[in-house]
This record gives sequence, C-alpha cells and structure tokens, in this order.
Amino acid sequence: MSGWEGGWAFAMMTCKEVSTLMSMGGPADARWRVRLAVRLHLSMCRHCRAFKRQLEALTKTARTLSASLDADLPKDFEATLSKSLHRKP
Ligand SMILES: [Zn+2]
Repeated sequence: MSGWEGGWAFAMMTCKEVSTLMSMGGPADARWRVRLAVRLHLSMCRHCRAFKRQLEALTKTARTLSASLDADLPKDFEATLSKSLHRKP
C-alpha cells in the first residue's frame, strides 16, 4: 500500500495555509481532504486554534454590527442614497 505516506502528505499543512483557508471563509467549500487536513492541523496546533477563535469572534462582531446597522437605517435610506448618488454636482 503506497497511499499511506501520500495520505499523510496532505495533512502537513503549514500554519500559513491553514490561516489563509480560514480567513477566506473557512474550508467549508474545500475538498474533504483539505477540510480534514485543516481539522488535523487545528488539533495539533494551538496557534491556529487561537487564530480560529479570534476569527470567529471577529466574524460574530461584524455580523452583529451589520445587523444593528441594518436595524438603525431609516426607511428612506435607499431612496435618499440613490437621490444623492444621482444628484449632479
Ligand atoms: Zn498552525
């Protein structure tokens, strides 16, 4: 069976690769091998675990912020915006 070493090669992702993948929105749409590699890396690497936590906190904050911004927008915001965009200087 020659697949053993090849099988582990994909698991050897660098911190940079893992953090890039995560900051691109997570490996959700990546191939299962990549997702597995990220999970494996996270289980071994506390730096990337910390980064993931920070990223999740940031995403949550951004989501909350944008939700509250949406709620605070006046009803005629879009109309006002498009009016001001179309107004000639
Ligand atoms: Zn790492």
